[in-house]
Amino acid sequence: MASAIARKTLLLDIGYQPIKVISWRRAVCMEFLGKVEVVSNFDAEVKTITRDYPIPAVVRLLHHTRVGPRVVRFSRRNVYLRDRFTCQYCGRRFSERDLTLDHVIPRSRGGRMEWTNIVAACVPCNGRKGRRSPEQVGLELRCIPRKPLSVPGSPAQLGIETVPELWQVWMPRPSRR
Ligand SMILES: [Zn+2]
Repeated sequence: MASAIARKTLLLDIGYQPIKVISWRRAVCMEFLGKVEVVSNFDAEVKTITRDYPIPAVVRLLHHTRVGPRVVRFSRRNVYLRDRFTCQYCGRRFSERDLTLDHVIPRSRGGRMEWTNIVAACVPCNGRKGRRSPEQVGLELRCIPRKPLSVPGSPAQLGIETVPELWQVWMPRPSRR
């Protein structure tokens, strides 16, 4: 079992939509302040001198919050999540540290650092491509890079790769597109 201390808590809004991932300490604190109710607990406890606390897996806000439209932030990690940690040239899966961000249209030719021009690439493929376009070196993109749909509460939007079992019921269904 993962260390109790490393556990994170999924925060839901009043309508049971995932908002974000918070530390379990913050979740315990919010519960103490009457801001949230516990939806489910991990099968793990934190021991203190006076009592043992179950670690909350999922908590729900008890009040309405105004949340603006949520977009998937452009970041290295979110590009890897979008591309499922798969090199978009050779199609193999890598760990985060063996991946790089590749400009499809090279920077030297005006390619921008944006969702539609950045893909995950392994070091050998990125090296092979260099400052050329994929066609010039005979590489083909597996998928056309797009801006991810801003699915509220999706793992990409929450910035997480794996979803603990107790959270799964609260996650939005993957979109068909
Ligand atoms: Zn590759």
